[in-house]
Amino acid sequence: MLALSASPVAQASATPFGYDRWPHPRVTYVVSGSAYYRRVFQTAIRAWNATGQFKFVPGSAAHHQVTLSTSNATNGQYYHLAGITYSTAGSNDIFTKARVILLNRNMNAYRYTYWNRVHVAEHELGHVIGLAHSRDHASVMLANNRYNGISHADAAAVRQRYRIRAGRL
Ligand SMILES: [Zn+2]
Repeated sequence: MLALSASPVAQASATPFGYDRWPHPRVTYVVSGSAYYRRVFQTAIRAWNATGQFKFVPGSAAHHQVTLSTSNATNGQYYHLAGITYSTAGSNDIFTKARVILLNRNMNAYRYTYWNRVHVAEHELGHVIGLAHSRDHASVMLANNRYNGISHADAAAVRQRYRIRAGRL
């Protein structure tokens, strides 16, 4: 017999996260690139900071954990990507550094708007925080996301990630 009453309304699924996290839900960053892309990054940072679950604060050239940058590369590992995040973590699963690259020419080729690019930046910052790809169609962590901002499920996942220790769950 089918349990027809089990799930009358589609539920937003939880945004997944990985083993790695920062020591605290707070990192320092530096941003490079054009005034346009610095605005894209700042808008994405404000959105994450507004969730109250994680804070990106400006660092200095000498002291920062996260580098936010852009590139006009289009091929090799960047083929058809809008953005990419490289993170490094110690053997204790604690992040030590992360670098985000927004791929300007690829986004131009697909006619990304300003807000599409902000959503890509929000998605990449989600990876910086420690979130993984979600299959929830409202999540900022949907693979290839360009339309979604940060959802309640995304913010809740960050809260959950930083309430529990790094490493295998
Ligand atoms: Zn991604």
